[in-house]
Amino acid sequence: MSDKNLVIALTKGRILDEVLPLLEQAGIVPAEDIFKSRKLIFACNLPHVQLMVIRGSDVPTYVELGSADIGIAGKDMIMEYGSRGFYEPLDLEIAGCRLMSAAPIGAKLDSPRLRVASKFVNVAKNYFYEQGRQVDIIKLSGALELAPFMGLCDCIVDVVDTGNTLRANGLEPRDHIADVSTRVIVNRASMKIKHDLVQSLLQRLQQAVTANKKTSTAS
Ligand code: AMP
Repeated sequence: MSDKNLVIALTKGRILDEVLPLLEQAGIVPAEDIFKSRKLIFACNLPHVQLMVIRGSDVPTYVELGSADIGIAGKDMIMEYGSRGFYEPLDLEIAGCRLMSAAPIGAKLDSPRLRVASKFVNVAKNYFYEQGRQVDIIKLSGALELAPFMGLCDCIVDVVDTGNTLRANGLEPRDHIADVSTRVIVNRASMKIKHDLVQSLLQRLQQAVTANKKTSTAS
């Protein structure tokens, strides 16, 4: 990382759709259409800024270890990563959802030791530990909704937006573990060494968030 360059790690997928307009409002526009390219790193209108597009679960790693100065990722990914090795100065207030536990409709979760399947094994472990419940955590990468019906687990922990996916698969939401939105994280060293660059971007992003909030409350 040079002192005068900024590398921003973006989360691909649903967050990217909502982040690109915010970045544009903050004065950062990719030099080409990210969605039409198979590239993973992009130049933009500002010659000192580069945009990486990676999986959300990898964003905290790149930022903590300093290969990216700034990261944009869901709070779910940041909680699962678990480290405090970076700053989290800004909530972009987009891609909102909740981390929840869910179980088959009407199921009694009264066994002394719950089997919980999740992509978010650390979040699940911490949550049930705080509740004083004994759990076995089972790591899955997707299609969690199937797991209770195949006898793999008693309940799941997943991100829920409308709840339609749960309902379509015979599950109901149970415990609300955390609210999730998209956050900006900053490498600790970059915050000091590139203070002006980082602060000016954070300010512009904050202004974009505030402007969007005003528009959405007015409409
Ligand atoms: P829904 O049916 O609206 O509750 O959406 C649930 C599914 O959409 C989940 O299984 C997630 O994979 C995905 N999802 C919803 N919101 C988000 C989000 N903000 N970030 C990432 N994935 C999400």
